[in-house]
Amino acid sequence: MAGFTVLGGGVSGLSTAWYLAQRLPRTATITVVEGSDRLGGWVRTEQRAAGGAAVLAEKGPRTLRTGVSREALAVLELVDDLDLRSAVVTAARSSAAARNRFIYYGGELNRMPSGLASLVGGLPPAARCLARGVWQDLTTRSSGSGSSDESIHDFVARRFGAAVDDNLASAVMRGIYAADTRDLSARALLFPFWLADRTGTTGVLRGLPRVAKLSRARNAVHAQRDAAERKAHAERRRRHPGFWEAVDGASMYSFADGMQTLTDALASALRTCPNVSVLTGSPAVALRARDGCAEVALADGRTLLAHHVVSALPTRHLASLLGGSAVLDMPYASVAVVNVAYSERNVTPVDGFGYLVPRAAASPSGALGVVFDSRALPPQDRGAPVDRLTVMLGLPTTGGSSTAVTTASVEEAALQTLREHLRIAQAPVDVDATIATHCIPTYTVGYVDRLADIHKWVASQLNGRLSVVGAAFGGPAVPQCVLHARDLVQRHLHLDDLEAPQNVTGLEEIIKGFDL
Ligand SMILES: Cc1cc2nc3c(=O)[nH]c(=O)nc-3n(C[C@H](O)[C@H](O)[C@H](O)COP(=O)(O)OP(=O)(O)OC[C@H]3O[C@@H](n4cnc5c(N)ncnc54)[C@H](O)[C@@H]3O)c2cc1C
Repeated sequence: MAGFTVLGGGVSGLSTAWYLAQRLPRTATITVVEGSDRLGGWVRTEQRAAGGAAVLAEKGPRTLRTGVSREALAVLELVDDLDLRSAVVTAARSSAAARNRFIYYGGELNRMPSGLASLVGGLPPAARCLARGVWQDLTTRSSGSGSSDESIHDFVARRFGAAVDDNLASAVMRGIYAADTRDLSARALLFPFWLADRTGTTGVLRGLPRVAKLSRARNAVHAQRDAAERKAHAERRRRHPGFWEAVDGASMYSFADGMQTLTDALASALRTCPNVSVLTGSPAVALRARDGCAEVALADGRTLLAHHVVSALPTRHLASLLGGSAVLDMPYASVAVVNVAYSERNVTPVDGFGYLVPRAAASPSGALGVVFDSRALPPQDRGAPVDRLTVMLGLPTTGGSSTAVTTASVEEAALQTLREHLRIAQAPVDVDATIATHCIPTYTVGYVDRLADIHKWVASQLNGRLSVVGAAFGGPAVPQCVLHARDLVQRHLHLDDLEAPQNVTGLEEIIKGFDL
């Protein structure tokens, strides 16, 4: 019987298995192998008892963006497929959480502009460099960096001035990647801006329309495929108009019981499919070609034979299954996630989603930012008089593991951050730290060239019977992980002939995206 094995039970692996289950005949088997005892990977929600109330604590992702991008729609359509519509909680576009995002700079919270109207009172100190930066870009001809990539810091400093990176860009990138812009690739993470600079002499901002045109021309090749996707989406909207109107009017969303609702629902749906097996508690330890198939060896001694393997593992784990590989040697950032709850509402001095700490205001505590969870999604508190905040701290990593940090030390650093930045004097009713080691892949300078090397390496393994998905490739956000899984299954794998080698690495389209 033809079979697929999916390695890793995080959101990437679970959604890959889900899309496979939707497309494959019931005669084809799908096996998900998760090494730990729980499914979901970094998606993890805990319900904690704090001061007599049940308090929700997100240990990983906490909100998902709405919008019309393919990745935003991919998760929303998955939510629709899994019948989770009534579990969704949203932050309306008009809410303070949607409009108010801050940067900690100069010892205070600076509200970032969120549209022209917000500029009326003038720019806050952190953003004043923007006006000069825009002027610099509009009046300085592009000359390109001369190399095939550069750091975000070098790129932003060259085009807009170092202050724009120190005060603003570094904050955003620390918030998403928990990494320094001096390490991150401008080509990979700011591709349209980087390309606008490289392909003309008019500056980045004036070059963006040219890049948009190039991108439209390239996408025209897929016009038929994209039209079919849009038609299917329009049909969905007709079936559940209320749900789609609600998410159209929202800027972000999660679920009443937290983000794990999504991975739990995926796991439950998979368990009801007769041709899907979900194995937990025994990691894969080796992967090899055998008898015209791929064989996965598990730590408990079992072996699984599959016609095709999709790895949704962090890169170093995949490398170790195949005897090591320098091309997969990708750094991952480590963070401490400290959930703090107070027994009264609105303890923060301002209303909004939260704030980020730029390099210019970085402190030894490593604070990357604070999310005002209760302000962002009040329905998750179910009326309880609580205020939930999450402090994210970047942790230095040396070699294989985070340097000696303890939950007690990061909890203290988090509370100190809240006292110092927000002047919260109250004692919390609950503080809980999670140390997430190697949790977010770092797309370092040269990433795009390395992706081409990884593609060649994956293609050379298991005689064309290996594909990869996951946070290290199409982007680390949950929607990017889900879209990568969906595209692999719906657009690239040849599911009409399950026994022949697929010869699809899963990276083809991502690499082409950098080929404008
Ligand atoms: C603190 C934090 C906050 C975040 N916030 C957001 C957010 O707000 N919004 C957003 O969109 N994204 C956010 N992200 C990013 C997003 O959550 C992750 O990138 C995404 O969940 C990664 O999913 P994955 O399935 O690719 O990888 P993982 O979640 O890492 O899953 C990989 C799985 O493989 C398993 N595994 C490893 N080795 C083996 C083996 N040998 N055999 C079998 N199984 C194995 C692991 O146990 C794990 O379950 C955040 C991430 C973190 C860490």
